[in-house]
Amino acid sequence: MTIGIKKVSRPENMSLSESLYLVEIVKGLGVTIGHLLHNLVHDEGIYTYEYPEERRVMPARFRGKHRLMKRPDGTPRCVACYCCQTACPANCITIVAGESPNPDIEKVPVSFDIDHLRCIFCGLCVEACPCDAIRMDTGWFTPPDDAREKFVFSIDDLLEK
Ligand code: SF4
Ligand code: SF4
Repeated sequence: MTIGIKKVSRPENMSLSESLYLVEIVKGLGVTIGHLLHNLVHDEGIYTYEYPEERRVMPARFRGKHRLMKRPDGTPRCVACYCCQTACPANCITIVAGESPNPDIEKVPVSFDIDHLRCIFCGLCVEACPCDAIRMDTGWFTPPDDAREKFVFSIDDLLEK
């Protein structure tokens, strides 16, 4: 399909008021002011939030910033099985496992980092976890920051939420 060129005819001799476009400017402002007044009276159609004081209620399946779940004694529920790291298609999870002091648990994560600059928020890590130890239900987007290393969330960050 070729793209056609539409020629717009312009009047040769415009009057002074036409050449100043005053009428058109006033018409445009009329539309804007009309919408403003309408929205002041009928605010049900406005979807603006006073973020961050007012936050949107996220749908149940929203995938946001990760969190690591804790056991009742406050230790991480994660058993450092590497399932999430293996399932992650973006290679953004890095786990270092260590021996657990609890004889009933084989391993614990010594470090658990997620690089949110690489994460594509697919949720495969959550699905792969056999212990429900990682979730993405915080409702938080990755917050803005000024250095790349600040987007790598450590085990302490992930356990905080
Ligand atoms: S959400 Fe997807 S990309 Fe992000 S850490 Fe989990 S598996 Fe990796
Ligand atoms: S899959 Fe779950 S238990 Fe295994 S390392 Fe990841 S968060 Fe920990």
